[in-house]
Amino acid sequence: MSAPLFSVPAKSWVEIPDESDFSLHNLPYAVARLPKGGSIVVVAVGNNALNLSRLFKKGYFPGLNANKNPFRSTSLNSFIALGRPAWTYVRQRILDVLDEQSDELKNRKDVEKFLIHQQLLTFLLPVNIGNYTDFYSSMEHASNVGKMFRPDGDALLPNWKHIPVGYHGRASSIVVSGYPIRRPKGQTLPDGTDQPVFGPCRLLDFELEMAFIVGQPNTMGDSVSVDRAEEHIFGMTIFNDWSARDIQKWEYVPLGPFLAKNFASSMSPWVVTMDALQPFRTEAPAQHPEVLPYLKEKQRGTYDIQLFVDLKPGQHRPVTICRSNFKYLYWTMAQQLAHHTVGGCNMQVGDVCASGTISGPTEDSFGSMLELSWKGTKPLVLEGGIERKFLQDGDVVVMRAFCEKEGIRVGFGSVETEILPAH
Ligand code: MN
Repeated sequence: MSAPLFSVPAKSWVEIPDESDFSLHNLPYAVARLPKGGSIVVVAVGNNALNLSRLFKKGYFPGLNANKNPFRSTSLNSFIALGRPAWTYVRQRILDVLDEQSDELKNRKDVEKFLIHQQLLTFLLPVNIGNYTDFYSSMEHASNVGKMFRPDGDALLPNWKHIPVGYHGRASSIVVSGYPIRRPKGQTLPDGTDQPVFGPCRLLDFELEMAFIVGQPNTMGDSVSVDRAEEHIFGMTIFNDWSARDIQKWEYVPLGPFLAKNFASSMSPWVVTMDALQPFRTEAPAQHPEVLPYLKEKQRGTYDIQLFVDLKPGQHRPVTICRSNFKYLYWTMAQQLAHHTVGGCNMQVGDVCASGTISGPTEDSFGSMLELSWKGTKPLVLEGGIERKFLQDGDVVVMRAFCEKEGIRVGFGSVETEILPAH
């Protein structure tokens, strides 16, 4: 991807704490409801959010080719649909306005009024999601699952190193951070029996994932080439793909997961743009055997994004139970998108593609309880001797993600979810 170069000011007149996820290098987008009502698009600046709707109305984006205010909205879709020139223009305009040395400083009193503390806002799902796809792109995760469920066979199925394996998920039940989820009910087959039973899921799990948001559509019948695929991506979020392992085990043959996955997925409110991620571009794992030509990248690359899962068991203190990294994934986002469209599938603005569980090579980097507790055979021992094999009602799962390099920090915030008992 030939990324535009942005001039990031050395300092802003807005206070940004050193350890903030939301430095000037970041400027992620979210959609929020104001205390007095109305939904707007905001950009994070330290602990504040900048109201882009007010900036637009005050004439700060004269070069934006939009007939109506794209920031007075319940989703980012209208803004994203304006295309990459608009994304680049708005990012540079915001950087200019926030610059301590800015020519715009005469308007500082104006712009100060457009800053609102993030704690005063209610965040909504950032995009209106038409379609959601979940991949299975971590070799460590796929191998762990293979070893657990097919101990006598190969850890990876024969197709895994040739196809970025995925399935079409459910968009309607994707919710934003803070929205509690209810333990699902469904059919399971108790061990050692041949009669299914109905009831609350007993093996509730999270999946540590990242998602990308499609920013540029493709026409049905056309495909997106692997070398141009990243141009079609607007940005990324943290993604928790909730999973009911016992339901999944009984239902998934032959068509894959259904009720084990469709009850909920959780997303972080902030969308970090691909522009903000460019300083953290890094090598992706080498692929052997060689992939088919349509998946072969001229300049293969991924992003160095540190990932964490904290588990807060009931009233007890949270403990970090997983440390992983996005760069471990075998299949890149470009390969996922090229594969997704190669048969002519049309992607739309706001479509969400999640990575699949991101597990690393070490036991503390596994991205699900299934792997961390090795199918429940090795319970995690948390503070105060509390044990967990899978998740219990009242547990809170927090996923965090950030990039850090040479004093530059670009963070994703978090996705935080409490588990409620089954109805
Ligand atoms: Mn998943």
